[in-house]
Amino acid sequence: AFAQEPTRNLDLWPKASSPATDPTIERRAESLLEKMTLEEKVGQIMQPEIQSITPEQVRKYHIGSVLNGGGSMPNRDSEAGPDDWLALADAYWEASMDTADGGTAIPVFWGTDAVHGNGNLLGATLFPHNIGLGAAGDPELVKAIGAATAKEVRTTGVEWVFAPTLAVAQNDFWGRTYESYSENPALVREYAAAMVEGLQGDAGSGEFLAENRVLASAKHFLADGGTLEGDDQGDARIDERELIDIHNAGYPAAIESGVQTIMASFSSWNGEKTHGSEYLLTEVLKKRMGFDGLVVGDWNGHGQVPGCTNDSCAQAINAGIDLLMVTYDWKAMIANTLAQVRSGEISEARLDDAVRRILRVKLRAGLFERKPSARALAGDESVVGSAEHRRLARRAVRESLVLLKNRDGILPLDPGQEVLVAGPGADSIAMQSGGWSVSWQGAGIANEKFPGATSIYAGIKNAVETAGGSAQLSEDGQFEKKPDAAVVVFGETPYAEGQGDLNSLEFEAGKKDSLALLKKFRSADIPVVSVFLSGRPRWVNPELNASDAFVAAWLPGTEGAGVADVIVAGEDGEPRHDFNGRLSFSWPKLPLQGRLNPQHPDYDPLFAYGDGLDYRSGETGPENLAENVPGLMRGEPTKYDLYVGRPMQPWGVQIADFEQDQMLSGAFAKLPSGRVTVVTSDKEVQEDALTFKWRDTWLARLSLEHGGPLDLSNYIDEGVLSFDLKVDDLEDGDLALALQCGENCERS
Ligand code: BGC
Repeated sequence: AFAQEPTRNLDLWPKASSPATDPTIERRAESLLEKMTLEEKVGQIMQPEIQSITPEQVRKYHIGSVLNGGGSMPNRDSEAGPDDWLALADAYWEASMDTADGGTAIPVFWGTDAVHGNGNLLGATLFPHNIGLGAAGDPELVKAIGAATAKEVRTTGVEWVFAPTLAVAQNDFWGRTYESYSENPALVREYAAAMVEGLQGDAGSGEFLAENRVLASAKHFLADGGTLEGDDQGDARIDERELIDIHNAGYPAAIESGVQTIMASFSSWNGEKTHGSEYLLTEVLKKRMGFDGLVVGDWNGHGQVPGCTNDSCAQAINAGIDLLMVTYDWKAMIANTLAQVRSGEISEARLDDAVRRILRVKLRAGLFERKPSARALAGDESVVGSAEHRRLARRAVRESLVLLKNRDGILPLDPGQEVLVAGPGADSIAMQSGGWSVSWQGAGIANEKFPGATSIYAGIKNAVETAGGSAQLSEDGQFEKKPDAAVVVFGETPYAEGQGDLNSLEFEAGKKDSLALLKKFRSADIPVVSVFLSGRPRWVNPELNASDAFVAAWLPGTEGAGVADVIVAGEDGEPRHDFNGRLSFSWPKLPLQGRLNPQHPDYDPLFAYGDGLDYRSGETGPENLAENVPGLMRGEPTKYDLYVGRPMQPWGVQIADFEQDQMLSGAFAKLPSGRVTVVTSDKEVQEDALTFKWRDTWLARLSLEHGGPLDLSNYIDEGVLSFDLKVDDLEDGDLALALQCGENCERS
C-alpha cells in the first residue's frame, strides 16, 4: 500500500473532445427538458433489466432505458430469434412514446452485451474475443467486425451495445483479460477508434449512428485492468501517471471518434470506487476530456459505493453517473432519487445534465422517429450469421493465431494424411467461444445452440478431406488405426468476469489431463499439434514440451475453420495462409508471472510481447522448458519466499525464490479444500518486518532459510490437506520457517 495517497493533478490528463454537436439536436434536447416533470427526469436515468420490468411499467414510470444482462434472452427463451426480440423492443418503445396521459414522448433505448458479435442471439456470428483481435494487429479488421456486429444486433431492435472494452489488462490473473485487446496501451488506443467507428459509423459521415449502426459503450472507465493481483472489481493502487499512460489510453481516442456512452468501472482507484468518483467521472472524463455523451453505471455498481445501497445512491449521481444500470428495486430507487432531488441532496442542475446527455444520445441516434421493427435491418434474418460475416470472422481467426512452436516443420499438416483430432475443445463451440456466448458464463452450452458454427474439428476435417486425406474425431484420443498426426484442442473452459480470476497461471494444476493426452500420442510416436484455447496466456511449459507444434488460438468464436486454414496445407503441400498473429500479451515463464511488464528492466517472459513464429522464417521455438521446482530440491541453503494464496480464491501455497521472483513449486498451486494458516511468534513482526497483505500482493510473504531438501508435495494428497506454517525463532532479517502438520493433517 502507498504510504500516502498519490496526488491528483488534472493538468496531467490529455485534453480531448467529442465531435462538434449539432445545434438542432441541442435545441430539441433543451425543449424536451423544459417540458419534463421531475418524475419523468428521474425515470429517464434508470436502466432496469428486462426481466424486472414490463412495457406498461416503462410507460408508467417514464423509464429511460432497459438492458438484457449477461446473455439472457427476452422472454427467458434461449431459442428467441430476431422477431421475438423485436416484438419486445417495440412494446417497450411504444410504451415509452405513449403520451395518452399527457407525458413527454421519449423513446426508451435498449442496451446489450455484444462483446464479440451478438452473443445473445441464436445463430449470430461470434468473432474472436478481443485478446485474439489484439494478436491480429489489424485495426481495419476490427472496424469491419464492429460494423458486422452492429448489423446483427440491429436485427433484434436493440440500439446499443456495451462494447468495446478498453481495459489495458496488466495482470493475466484477471478473469476478464480476454476482453482486453492488449497489455499495450498503444494497441488499445488504435483499436478503440477502430471499434467505435465500426459500431457507430464514422463521426461526421452520413453513416454515423445510421440505422445499420449501434451506439457503442467504451468500458470500464477506469483501470478495470489495473487492479492488484488482477482482482475483478478490485482496487488499482497506482499513481495518476500510470492511470493515464496505461489505463486511459483508449478513452481520448474513443471520445474523438464520437463514442456516445462510457461505462464506469466496478473497480476502485486507490480505494475510491469509480462509481463514486466525481474526480474521474466529472472532472476528468466530462470536463477535461470533453466527453459529451452519457456515463452509464455498471451492473448495480452504485450499490458498491460507500454509504449507498442498491436502491439509494445520491453519491453516484452526484459523482457523474448519468444512467443507473440495474437498480434491482427500481421503484425504490426512483422514490429515493426523487426525494434526494427534492431535498437538494442531488441538485436539479446535476439531474438535468444527466437527462440532457441521455436525450442528446437518443436524438443523435434517431430513436424518436420509428419504432424498432420499422427501422432498417429489423428482423432481417439474412444478416444473422450471414456468409459474409462468417467469412470475416474466419479471417479474424486466421489472423489471431499465434504459433509458439513448430518442431521439424510439422505444420502445416499435409492434407493427404490421416489426422486424429482430440481433446475437449476439438468439437466444442462453447469452448471456442468462451464467456459472453449464449449465456453470460458461456460454459456447458451444446453445439446445437450455435447453429451455423464450425468446430475446429469440422474445419480440419473439411480441409483434409478436400485433399484426399481423412480426419477422425476422438475426444479422449482413442484410436484403432494409428493416425499420421494428432491435433489436440484443449484449454480453458468458459468463464466470465470474476469467475475467471486466478492466483496462478499454471494450466490444469494438479490435474494435467491434457498433458496426459499429448504424452499418449508422443509415446505412440505420433506427431502432435496443440491448439490451445484460452482467454489469456497460461503457464503451459509441460504442454509445450509435450507438443511438436503449439498454437495459441485464444477464443476464436464460431468460425473454427480459420484454424484449419492455417494449420492444414493446400493440396500442393504449401501453406494456404501463414501465421501472422503476434502476442498482444507477454507469455509467462513462471506460473506466478501474472504481471509481466515490458517496461520493467527485469522483464523476463517465456515469449515476449509481439512474439510469434511463422512458416516463412522456419523457426521452431523452444525445447526442454523448465517444468517445475528448479532449485527447491537442490539441498543447498537458499533463501525462499513463501507465497500464500488469497482468502477469496481457492487456496494455494507456492514457494518462490525471493531474489529472482521466481516460482519454484508450480505443482501444487491449488488446494481446493485446503486451509493454510500462517503463525508467527510475534504479531508485531507480522506487520513490520514481514509483509502481510490481504487482497494485496500476497497474504503472506516470508523469507525462509532451510538447510536441506524440502518437498512440500509430500503434504499434498489428492489436493486436500490442511497444515499450519509456523515461524519459529523469529529474528529480524533472518527467519527460519518450520513447516508443521496442522491438526487435520494425516501425514506426519
Ligand atoms: C459487466 C459489464 C456488462 C454489464 C451488463 C456487468 O457485470 O461488468 O461489462 O456490460 O454487466 O451485462
